[in-house]
Amino acid sequence: MASVHDSGPDGCYSCDCNAALTDLPPRQRILVGAGWRVAHAINCALPGWLVVIARRHITTVAELDAAEATEMGLVTWRLSRALTEVTGCAKTYVAAFSEAAGFTHLHVHVVPRAHGLPADEQGPAVFTHLRRPAAEWVPEGTMDDLAGALAARIAAQP
Ligand SMILES: [Zn+2]
Repeated sequence: MASVHDSGPDGCYSCDCNAALTDLPPRQRILVGAGWRVAHAINCALPGWLVVIARRHITTVAELDAAEATEMGLVTWRLSRALTEVTGCAKTYVAAFSEAAGFTHLHVHVVPRAHGLPADEQGPAVFTHLRRPAAEWVPEGTMDDLAGALAARIAAQP
């Protein structure tokens, strides 16, 4: 069985970040477990959009071992509760595609779905928030503030 310290191919952004874990800013290490690391999505126009990133370089859910799969369920559950408390969202969307060039490393999106989200941005259309101009991206300071609030909520969970 592969270890969590397996390095991925050159040029994998997720592996590069996993390898530099202790140097990452708060927005890149909201929650770190044995199998997963949680970060705020980059280049994203929706505050609180989180990604749960595998600690080792795999590209499909089918490659997870039982412990990683169990942890994935618990992590998405904890994040969903924390996002609901911190952002006031109605619910969370959870999805894994790992299709974009350079981002095939397995990651699970956990997206706060706001009560007032326009109909044309609901469901899969919420991904429009990952295709906005840079001027609309969530600022790093805002991501770090959210990261702190979410981490505090998670730490207080039973
Ligand atoms: Zn990787």
